[in-house]
Amino acid sequence: MSCIFCKIVNKEIPSTILWENNDLLAIEDINPVAPVHCLIIPKSHVTTVAEVDGNQLKSLPQCIEDLIIEKDLKKHGYRLVTNAGFDGGQEVDHIHFHLLGGKKLGKMG
Ligand code: AMP
Ligand code: ZN
Repeated sequence: MSCIFCKIVNKEIPSTILWENNDLLAIEDINPVAPVHCLIIPKSHVTTVAEVDGNQLKSLPQCIEDLIIEKDLKKHGYRLVTNAGFDGGQEVDHIHFHLLGGKKLGKMG
């Protein structure tokens, strides 16, 4: 499998791991667009949120809660985004959620 996020999940290439359980891995984005830019990556390889097994997302709220405490995002807020396909601006073909914060973010679109 040549998918870069599968390699990160399998620890074949390094990343800065922030949170992990059997279903999800959260890492620092290598090219942050905000002071806080984490990626939450479901471990199994599917492309978009429309295809993922919902069981794999059961711990997503807990992961987010832990990250927003760790990253001190509770007071000022944050944004959770998943890009899908060409129009959505998805570059890595393995589902992931961007957790962004640490500054006032611009409107999307
Ligand atoms: P997307 O455009 O939604 O597919 O987002 C892909 C994200 O993956 C971008 O924000 C990249 O900066 C990030 N990224 C790509 N390669 C790595 C890597 N090796 N480690 C951490 N983040 C990465
Ligand atoms: Zn993958």
